[in-house]
Amino acid sequence: MFDKRQITDIFWDLDHTIWDYPTNAKLTIFELFSKYGLSEFTSHSPEKFHKSYCKHNDIAWEDYRNGKIDKLTLRKQRFSNTFKELGIEKDEFHDIFENEFVELCPTKSNLMAGSFEMLEFLNETFRQHIITNGFKETQEIKLKSSGITHFFKTITNSEDIGVQKPNTLIFQAALKSASAQAQNSVMIGDNYEADIIGAYNAGLNCIYYNQFEKSTENIPYEIVVINDLRKIGSLFV
Ligand SMILES: [Mg+2]
Repeated sequence: MFDKRQITDIFWDLDHTIWDYPTNAKLTIFELFSKYGLSEFTSHSPEKFHKSYCKHNDIAWEDYRNGKIDKLTLRKQRFSNTFKELGIEKDEFHDIFENEFVELCPTKSNLMAGSFEMLEFLNETFRQHIITNGFKETQEIKLKSSGITHFFKTITNSEDIGVQKPNTLIFQAALKSASAQAQNSVMIGDNYEADIIGAYNAGLNCIYYNQFEKSTENIPYEIVVINDLRKIGSLFV
């Protein structure tokens, strides 16, 4: 556990940590499913379509993070693989769904439970920042749509830096742009590999938002693990 008196800066991950990607994506997908009358072409429900999309999106993001595919391929694959898996033969919809999803989803405003509350609370004492692997053009819209832009002094995006979390270079770039020191900073994120190991290796203090209570057996003892963002409050009082 870090010494809260030494902390000056808080770095947040955005998707799945502050911004409720799953809920916002689900709303978007349900809208597209209905707009394009997919029930005419498949007996699968919008729920099933959404579930399949999430699976293929996660796989594509992991491949993207590991440098196996580029952004364009990610965007081509996640919907085409969803359509393929569900046996919906409407190839002309792949690009339409991707383009409209990317436009519509960031305009949704749902936040993870407790995140707004914690941003407000921490804002009284600390400078707050974002470090994100998400696409540059969409991340700023998400902040604006959900009314949280004003909380952040800096936003560091992997597309600007040229490497993604967990690469330590992105954390160093974020610290530099915030004029902060690693030992006086805390990273809060939901992705153990990308956010936590990355920040840990760059010398930041870490709060791992382990929402789904995955195994924490091999996690270094100095990393704080929480399953509810509202628990952050008690770490700083
Ligand atoms: Mg995340």
